[in-house]
Order: sequence, then structure tokens, then C-alpha cells
Amino acid sequence: MSKLTQKSSKPKAILKKSNNNRFTLTRIREVLLHQQRKVESEIKDLEKDDPVLMNALAESSEPGTDSWMADVHTRAVAAKASLRHMLEGISKALQNLKTGKYGKCERCGKAIEKQRLEVMPAATLCITCSKKTSKK
Ligand SMILES: [Zn+2]
Repeated sequence: MSKLTQKSSKPKAILKKSNNNRFTLTRIREVLLHQQRKVESEIKDLEKDDPVLMNALAESSEPGTDSWMADVHTRAVAAKASLRHMLEGISKALQNLKTGKYGKCERCGKAIEKQRLEVMPAATLCITCSKKTSKK
């Protein structure tokens, strides 16, 4: 009867602290590797769909399609740049996992919040520093 009055029924206590960290890092590594593969294939898809790159290979330029091609190409280049940026962050995070530096804020050196890493495994700044950076 007395136990029923306990307010917190969350399964938090199940996670043992000693194993928790290791488990999280292993899982984060898996998530990062998964993201890495996904982003790499997205870059490949963009290159496949880029008419300028396709055209360079096929060498069959039709007059009148240039501006459309340039437009699609510009968007593909921009999308690829942001994907590459993501990829850089992911490989950096994987590197940090290997060297044991993972999860530390690049700016203040404090541990990055776990909830943040779960949402953004490639994050290199803690919430406070990232807020400062985005404000500027
Ligand atoms: Zn920080």
C-alpha cells in the first residue's frame, strides 16, 4: 500500500550508472555510423540527380535546358555542402569516441548534456555554448 503512493514510476532507476555510460557511447557510435552511411548515400543520390554532373558524363547538352540545369545544380551543390558539413561533424564525433574526447564541449570543455547528444550525436558544443554561438 505504501509503495503505491510513490509518485515517480519512471524506469530511471533501472539504468545502473556504471554501465549506463558505456551503453550510451556504444549506442551513440551505432547512431553515428548509421547517420554516416545515410548522409554518404544522400550525397551519392544528389550527384546522381545533378544534371550538370550527368551532363558532364553524357556530354549531351541540349539548348534551353541550361538555366534549369544550373538551378538544379546550384541547389544540389548547396545541399551537398551541408551534407558534407554533417559528415565532417559525424567523423569528428566518431574520432572523439575513439580517443575518449567524445561528449566534451569544444568551447568550455564541460560535458555536453546527454539529452542533447541523444538528439544530436554529432554535437560538439553544449547547450549553453551553442546558444551563445547562435546568438552572436
Ligand atoms: Zn560549452
